[in-house]
Amino acid sequence: MNREEVDERLVSGRLTIDLQALVRNWKWLAANAPNSAIAMSVKADGYGLGLPRIGDALAQAGCRHFFTANPLEGTVLRRVTENAEIFILSGLTEKNAAHYNEASLTPVLNSLEDIDVWANWCRKSGHRRPCAIHIDTGMNRLGLTPDEALRFIKDRQLRHSVTENLILSHLACADESDHSKNFQQLKSFNEVASHFEGSRKSLANSAGIVLGEDYQFDICRAGIAVYGGEFSDIAGPLEPVAKLEGRIVQIRNSNRGETVGYGGTAKLEKNTRIAIVGIGYGDGVHRAASGSGVAMRELNGGTTGWIGGHVVPAIGRISMDLTAFDVSHVPESVLEENSWIEFFGENVPLADFSKAAGSIDYEVLTGIAPRVHRVYKDTSESNSNG
Ligand SMILES: *Cc1c(COP(=O)(O)O)cnc(C)c1O
Repeated sequence: MNREEVDERLVSGRLTIDLQALVRNWKWLAANAPNSAIAMSVKADGYGLGLPRIGDALAQAGCRHFFTANPLEGTVLRRVTENAEIFILSGLTEKNAAHYNEASLTPVLNSLEDIDVWANWCRKSGHRRPCAIHIDTGMNRLGLTPDEALRFIKDRQLRHSVTENLILSHLACADESDHSKNFQQLKSFNEVASHFEGSRKSLANSAGIVLGEDYQFDICRAGIAVYGGEFSDIAGPLEPVAKLEGRIVQIRNSNRGETVGYGGTAKLEKNTRIAIVGIGYGDGVHRAASGSGVAMRELNGGTTGWIGGHVVPAIGRISMDLTAFDVSHVPESVLEENSWIEFFGENVPLADFSKAAGSIDYEVLTGIAPRVHRVYKDTSESNSNG
């Protein structure tokens, strides 16, 4: 089912995605790397915000290079952009190699074995689709070691069996701007990359871009910064892009001494007005962000929501479909006018919610469940809605 076709009256969670803010964030990064192309990482359904709309908005804004995790995501993206270069970070197998050609996707080769698989397919099919080669300079996740890269370069036959057009590596600690690993990886990347003269180079993710020009090379691979997440200790966050809200299902008056929620972990110290909101961990509102009664959260009050100018603390454990907030101090008129409570967005920073959940913005965004209704805001829509 197309999520946008869901009738909002039928659901109790909505995620509003501001496509204009997304594009402004992308342009901010572009202005900070004027000699590089800013590619977008749109893996995991565009960081949970909906790949087709995210990809379409960015492509229309001029984004010409995208990265996804697997070829299925790349194929979904291909439907909204005919011309962009789509790199697939981790999905090449013997069985799907032909699909890369059919959907015009570029595989990122992460090992000498990957290079073999691609070389074999190219030879058998007679196609010479370009590929990218990933060098591991210190992450120890994917990519050829620098030694393997040198072996590849010296093996003339293997070297001529594939056509690489991009050499990339990934930084492990870019969000810590003075971490010594950043410079070590840069140095190692420069050494290996010097052997691939004709290919474009790419090292930086969002955080790497603001480490400076040395890190930017031909293509930067942006992600979380463009989605409004925290990305660096020296810059941002940029504009919020996603707002998560839950509908108030019931408001109740509870008495001092009573408890709230599973486990009875929140004992009321005074008479309390409680708003019960219709989203919970089944929607991606992490249980670890509970007001109390969760191991990680024993020491503080958990997350806070926002309604009509008022900050409201979560009380007790978050359950699958419901979250309780203390709205005792919120005027009656505000509760009458507003039927939704914001979990994060313009008023509650995404990073605050993520920290309350013991998590990070990436995990929170990619974890918003499919049953949460996605609403896309762009100029034309906001005009027509007034
Ligand atoms: C996800 C990813 C990115 C984007 O990272 P952000 O921190 O979101 O900017 C870039 N490169 C690779 C290899 C990735 O896996």
